[in-house]
Amino acid sequence: MSCLFCKIVEGSIPSTAVYQDEHCYAFADIHPQAPVHVLVVPREHISSLAEIGREHPVLLGHLLWVAAEIARSKDLVKGYRAVINTGEDGGQTVDHIHVHLLGGRHLTWPPG
Ligand code: AMP
Ligand code: ZN
Repeated sequence: MSCLFCKIVEGSIPSTAVYQDEHCYAFADIHPQAPVHVLVVPREHISSLAEIGREHPVLLGHLLWVAAEIARSKDLVKGYRAVINTGEDGGQTVDHIHVHLLGGRHLTWPPG
């Protein structure tokens, strides 16, 4: 299996854990774009939002709940952003779906 985030989930590539449960794993982004930059990934390999099936919305909701819990735990009371880059035009570089949690600074809109 060649997926980078599957290897991170199983522990064969090291990462800095932020949260984990039976459905997902959250870890610090290796190239943080904000003071808080965490990736929340499902343990199950799903390549992108474009591949989401009818059985997946509960899992997706769980990923967003985890992102909100991490934001609360990090006191991001002024706000934050949860982002799912999708496909080439969306800037996705790792083909295992992930939610970016970005916070700790003012984030501009629209993104580039
Ligand atoms: P995306 O471009 O939306 O697919 O996001 C992929 C993210 O994974 C980027 O923000 C990278 O900095 C991050 N990343 C790549 N390799 C690692 C790694 N080994 N550990 C933690 N984050 C990583
Ligand atoms: Zn994977």
